Amino acid sequence: MPVPPRKTIPAAVLRKTLLDWYDAHCRDLPWRSPPSATPPPAYRVWLSEIMLQQTTVTAVIPYFLKFLKKWPQIENLAAADREDVLEAWAGLGYYARARNLHQCARAVMENYGGDFPADEAELRKLPGIGPYTAAAVASIAFDIPAAAVDGNVERVIARYHGLKTPLRDNKKFLKSEAEKLVFAGKTRAGDFTQSLMELGATLCTPKNPQCGRCPWQGGCVAHLNGIAADLPVPPPKTVKPVRYGTVFVLFCPDKKSVFLQKRPDDGLLGGMTEFPSTPWNETPPKTGKDIKKYLPQTVKTAEWQVLPEEIVHHFTHFTLRLSVWQGCGTETSAENRQSWVPAAEVEQRALPGVMQKVWRAALESFKRK
Ligand code: SF4
Repeated sequence: MPVPPRKTIPAAVLRKTLLDWYDAHCRDLPWRSPPSATPPPAYRVWLSEIMLQQTTVTAVIPYFLKFLKKWPQIENLAAADREDVLEAWAGLGYYARARNLHQCARAVMENYGGDFPADEAELRKLPGIGPYTAAAVASIAFDIPAAAVDGNVERVIARYHGLKTPLRDNKKFLKSEAEKLVFAGKTRAGDFTQSLMELGATLCTPKNPQCGRCPWQGGCVAHLNGIAADLPVPPPKTVKPVRYGTVFVLFCPDKKSVFLQKRPDDGLLGGMTEFPSTPWNETPPKTGKDIKKYLPQTVKTAEWQVLPEEIVHHFTHFTLRLSVWQGCGTETSAENRQSWVPAAEVEQRALPGVMQKVWRAALESFKRK
């Protein structure tokens, strides 16, 4: 089939077309103001943007509402215990975001008197705020023209221009095209940022883009060539390394408490709660002796049962395979950063996803007994 000729549509026209579409079709989300209304408070915009990184809107909504209820203003969040913040975040993943969130709230209180700075460059100085979040907060909360370019926006622009190489090879071009659109108008900077995000989230989705309903279909190279679903081109596949470990789920004799500890503050899952484990190495341990030397000092008297299924968890940079040892040990005092926690309260603790899997496997094994 012949490809219909592509119209070159000026950036100002594209911008207006998208804003008109947004006015008619934008979703009602708890962190948003309606189109053309007074912008939402920067605290809400920032909180939602941090939560939405690598996470879907559906997953974020209950967390966003919970955080606002517990900490309605930035001063409340800044004054909270970090532990409470991590616990409230548990289940949302990418836990460095929660630590940075808390640090950022404190920095805004200390350095800016509790008001986020209305300046993209100043925003970038705050913990956990990178170029994308700074641009999103500047534009949505303060109506400052700024190009907030995330994966959604990159996908839309790459398809619109029919780029046939991976996004990572086109970063400069994608940013500059986004800027052309942002600066093609003098008003409604925040609505435009949200309209571009909305297009990527609702119509120009990774799978099954809805080109027939898209306000940009007349100029979109990918659509006109029938290749929208094939773009963006994925980067060549790399195989994730695998790491191995053994995790210890230790109950006290009456099974009412379980032994937990805190991870070090820095590094992967920093500050989160976990079941003790061996280090996570590139090769599995060779003998039971290699594993037992990592048992917490206080629990060496426990009898251990190895669960039949291992836990597999995919982190961004590696896959973790954990075997689970479960046992009952004499209850002794816990060391620094360790504690005996009532089994009924484990799920309320700041357990990262991998440890939640471990806990579910342990509970399942009890049911089978
Ligand atoms: S026409 Fe299709 S591919 Fe092009 S921007 Fe719209 S939804 Fe995306």
